[in-house]
Amino acid sequence: MNQAESILSLRDVEKTFAGHCAVDGVSLDVARGEVVAVIGPSGSGKSTMLRCINLLEVPDRGTITVDGTDLDTSGTVSARDLTQLRRRVGMVFQSFNLFPHMTVLRNISLPQERVLGRSRDEADRRSMELLERVGLQQKADAYPAKCSGGQQQRVAIARALALDPEIMLFDEPTSALDPELGLEVLAVMRQLADTGMTMIVVTHEIHFAATVADRLIVMADGRILEQGPPQQVLDDPQHARTRTFLSAIK
Ligand code: ADP
Ligand code: MG
Repeated sequence: MNQAESILSLRDVEKTFAGHCAVDGVSLDVARGEVVAVIGPSGSGKSTMLRCINLLEVPDRGTITVDGTDLDTSGTVSARDLTQLRRRVGMVFQSFNLFPHMTVLRNISLPQERVLGRSRDEADRRSMELLERVGLQQKADAYPAKCSGGQQQRVAIARALALDPEIMLFDEPTSALDPELGLEVLAVMRQLADTGMTMIVVTHEIHFAATVADRLIVMADGRILEQGPPQQVLDDPQHARTRTFLSAIK
């Protein structure tokens, strides 16, 4: 795949914190509708790479292109560009980050009103559609504290989807959850992948990576160590470090 066919391109992206290179020259092209899983040891730069993609971190070097628009990462990014980008690239974190003082419905509707200028009615209608999709219509009027972790994460997914993103980034979305609650979140993600959403998923859920992802990327020391079809990378890893990592998480 070349840069023109991809919905997302990273070219030589670099991010350093206090002299330590967290992301060290990563280049990556993601095709529309592709699901990319990312694994790698703690501290290998997975989160920083995702955060660079929606400019929660501004890279020190390199370019990021989202659906043909180059993001100027060299200088300051205007607030308008940031809002546009964050709308197009949704992100779901390990900690669900819902507003505790708002109902589930409000959590999903408010960003639509703020960012897309939807009316409250319109936003609520869309929120209910999405709650249905993640199986939580009955929780619309509940506060986050009354939801399980798995339910809160499904609400966070609905909230990200409410801005009609072109790409969804997931940073270890099930790591904070008990296994059975993680499964319900993974089921929602699998369903989302089936709709053709472009997704980058940092996860240690190897079964999910093997069965849902089109491509598996292994990161180490801020770089892409190896990548390929998930089954190929899992069955026949090319690097000793990948083998060590895989045996540690299996
Ligand atoms: P991963 O998600 O693979 O565990 P991270 O991207 O979180 O890795 O971190 C990569 C490296 O960058 C680590 O050494 C981490 O300590 C460092 N790092 C990440 N974010 C910051 C930050 N905001 N300030 C300083 N160092 C950071
Ligand atoms: Mg991380």
